[in-house]
Amino acid sequence: MKSIEFIDLKTHGSIIGDKIKSSIDRVIAHGRFIMGPEVYALEKKLSAFTGAKHVVTCSSGTDALLMVLMAMGIGPGDAVFTSPFTFIATAEVISLLGAVPVFVDIDGDTFNIDPFKLEKAIEDLNKNSTLRLTPKCIIPVDIFGLPAEYETINKIADKYNLFVIEDAAQSFGGQTGDKMACNLTDVAITSFFPAKPLGCYGDGGAIFTSDDDLNEKLISIRVHGKGQHKYDNIRLGINGRMDTLQAAILIQKMTIFREELKKRQIVAQKYRKRLKGLVQFQKISDKFTSAWAQFSFCSEDRSKIMAELETNKIPHAIYYPKPLHLQEVFSMLKYKKGDFVVAEKVADTILSIPMHPYLVDEHLEFIAKTIVSAFN
Ligand SMILES: *Cc1c(COP(=O)(O)O)cnc(C)c1O
Repeated sequence: MKSIEFIDLKTHGSIIGDKIKSSIDRVIAHGRFIMGPEVYALEKKLSAFTGAKHVVTCSSGTDALLMVLMAMGIGPGDAVFTSPFTFIATAEVISLLGAVPVFVDIDGDTFNIDPFKLEKAIEDLNKNSTLRLTPKCIIPVDIFGLPAEYETINKIADKYNLFVIEDAAQSFGGQTGDKMACNLTDVAITSFFPAKPLGCYGDGGAIFTSDDDLNEKLISIRVHGKGQHKYDNIRLGINGRMDTLQAAILIQKMTIFREELKKRQIVAQKYRKRLKGLVQFQKISDKFTSAWAQFSFCSEDRSKIMAELETNKIPHAIYYPKPLHLQEVFSMLKYKKGDFVVAEKVADTILSIPMHPYLVDEHLEFIAKTIVSAFN
């Protein structure tokens, strides 16, 4: 048996490898490595795919988040509400700008931010603190590819006059009803890191919005805060561009992306059928479609399952073993164990197993059998 990949980054090459090579050759031939025509062509395709009016591609998902917060003028004294159960980048950018991440516990079924606790956190913001923070923004995270509850979150945001940034780094291709992830609220970001649902051959990201004014600011921030021309600088920005080569690769990868999403769905359904009753799946309500960045479940028997997977050389991972409120980097925020019991419990029991469109039945069956055997 071929070895099992946790996330397969190579098989697409046997389907579109030649097209990707020709696209790369075209870029080499025209030589416009920075902001070449492929970058704008990709933005058009991403806009059509998600329904967002504007797309600003950029250097990574992290820079995408940073650029949006910069465009919104987030800084010292501002509070940004987010989930403690996410990748560090989501909260890191808040602190980088001198603002304060305010964590809100997650829902134990979806592993996404709990909207009811969110409203309470907004109400209680300055209650037991000498800090006088201004609530500005919410960053829900679509964890493992499942969109958060934007219908409720958007209502809360309206009520308290906050804006919402969808961290769709893991959910490009996911849906709520017939609305695509990246177009579920004011503004969204995604990542094209190779292991994400739509990955490039290095770092890359994008920002999605239908707000014309925000779009203009983002285009400026992407190139050092440029004004009418490059050497006219009207605000602080960064070097946040996506390489033309990465755009050329993504254009080709998008041609098989819908098919890959379907294949991910099938893999997820098969896992669910085989592991039903043994582990606690991420709950995906009727209206929601996950992009299946990860297939993750909770189990009190995680260490037993991991031991079996290890014995059988099946790759697996814990996303994320330590919630952000307990990370050393955020010790200045003075959170402690017990502050977000749901996130802590999920971190203690969560496990991710191989998930990608090219997982063959033979491998899937072997993985499922191995997990089942941990319970015998
Ligand atoms: C991957 C990821 C990011 C950061 O994306 P990069 O492209 O790696 O910078 C941000 N948020 C979440 C939830 C992620 O999974």
